Amino acid sequence: MGADMNTRPVSIFALGPSSLPLAEKVKAAVGGVVHAPAGLAADGHFGKATLAIAHAFDAGHAVIGICSSGILIRAVAPSLRNKAEEPPVIAVSEDGATVVPLTGGHRGGNDLARKLASALSAHAAITTASDVMFGEALDEPQDAVLANPQDHKAAAAARLRGEEVRTETTIRVVSGGPRHLVYHPKVLAVGIGCERGTDPDDVRQLLTRTLEQHGIAPGSIAAYGSIDLKEDEPAITQFPQARFFTAEELRAEKDRLASPSAVVEQEVGVPGVAEAAALALVGRNGTLIVPKVKGKRATIAIAQAAQAADLRQPAGRPRGCVALVGIGPGDSSLMTPQVDFELWKASEWVGYSLYLDLVEHRRNGQTRHDFPLGDEEKRCRHAIELARQGKQVALVCSGDPAVFAMAALVYELIDREPCRIAVTVHPGVSAFQMASARAGALIGHDFCCISLSDLLTPWETIVQRVTAAATGDFVVSFYNPRSLKRTDQIVKAFDILRPHRKPETPVVLASNLGRPTEKVRILRFDEFRAEDVDMLTIVMVGSSQSRAFVRGDGQTSAYTPRGYARKMGLT
Ligand code: SAH
Repeated sequence: MGADMNTRPVSIFALGPSSLPLAEKVKAAVGGVVHAPAGLAADGHFGKATLAIAHAFDAGHAVIGICSSGILIRAVAPSLRNKAEEPPVIAVSEDGATVVPLTGGHRGGNDLARKLASALSAHAAITTASDVMFGEALDEPQDAVLANPQDHKAAAAARLRGEEVRTETTIRVVSGGPRHLVYHPKVLAVGIGCERGTDPDDVRQLLTRTLEQHGIAPGSIAAYGSIDLKEDEPAITQFPQARFFTAEELRAEKDRLASPSAVVEQEVGVPGVAEAAALALVGRNGTLIVPKVKGKRATIAIAQAAQAADLRQPAGRPRGCVALVGIGPGDSSLMTPQVDFELWKASEWVGYSLYLDLVEHRRNGQTRHDFPLGDEEKRCRHAIELARQGKQVALVCSGDPAVFAMAALVYELIDREPCRIAVTVHPGVSAFQMASARAGALIGHDFCCISLSDLLTPWETIVQRVTAAATGDFVVSFYNPRSLKRTDQIVKAFDILRPHRKPETPVVLASNLGRPTEKVRILRFDEFRAEDVDMLTIVMVGSSQSRAFVRGDGQTSAYTPRGYARKMGLT
């Protein structure tokens, strides 16, 4: 991950109002963003502190908590995997007297803790042995990797005994030992060009072979790059965080190429993708160290930056992505952690204002792109356009993003107008699931969902489907049941169902699910009145088997049996 304190975002967590002033002092000392529970004056807000802390950690942020070490340990424990990549986690006691770096000590955590302690006139409780003795880290230096971690313990112990330990920093493959630590600085960039459909393994093997032939350590590679035409090429996207350049940006490297090709120039407008991308990554002060090497269908080249800092935030841009996220019906406890994480990762939020408002308390520097109700196409096109510029976009939907929402439209647009962005879909709890759950278990047996909006679907098609649901004896959930202008559809749908349902069939009217104004009613089919329904309501009608009953506490429940009565020999 190569990031250090200069580039790593810092997330500061105040768990209550009393720790806010100290959190602000921490921010003044080391920068960053202060997160606090909703309602407090902070830069960002969270629902559940441990979840927010885990997300910040997973996203590679340095985490500073104004709280006990225990809270932070519990929050990040499930995410702890590889100490070489973990960001710093630092606990600051609420009285501001003690600063404890818990993880990532050598990823800048100890330095950050020292800086904090000095600003707060506190004590930095640094516990990593080599640091305590020498004020330096042996196993995880910044912008480099230790090539022989197996020798680190012996080397640190030798140093503690006062014996000499040699350290060597090189991009070459060198074997170290218990008295010889070898570091590979993160200074290399690999440029890749390939034909469409090249096997990703071929490119990997070409790279491995080339590195071996030149005796170069893979640990020194900091970045991979190619031309933007290859943004959707698996052979390139297999490298995490690959960066892409326009043909024009690559042409700017023309004079520095070692082996320009007229053929390639004719095909993609650049006299060589691999060399140009490697050079574009390392910048003007870098040099080409391995000119273009040809494989069967791919080429690679390697360039070296003048210093590791030049590659901390590599040039070019990442592949843009539209993440379709379903935030559930409303309450944030009904949102999956994955959706929460996607919202966190994105730099842009696109959506209907009401939905963006529902997640506003989680915003943490993301730009809002608000849209009015309707015109989903505009929303989707805007999200796709941002992704085409290399942005990471969350397209925010209520409920599930595929259920009468925008996921299918995004796929339709990229199907009709191909582009190279990544698209991912992250499910949410849909209104029908929530309504069934509130009522009991109405979707306990076969069910279907029908949108009554005839803005996009011809009314005859809707009639055909309602008829099939009526005769097929499905539990039916009606989305978009009634608007100010469309008042008839739900009445007609009930007319179609009436001959196939008993008068006592349970009907659930659920509005504003998961929001403070939530209202759920369970009534009989013959009690239904269309006037009780609006666009924020979902209407569910039971099958011939569905039942409603009143329990001892006076609550009515509705469910659809799956057939266990027959299995149990009951009727
Ligand atoms: N993607 C959403 C559905 C969007 S269509 C989902 O999966 O739930 C909009 C319709 O969904 C509304 O007209 C209403 O019928 C239903 N709906 C969405 N959210 C709702 C909520 N919180 N409470 C009740 N109905 C809701």
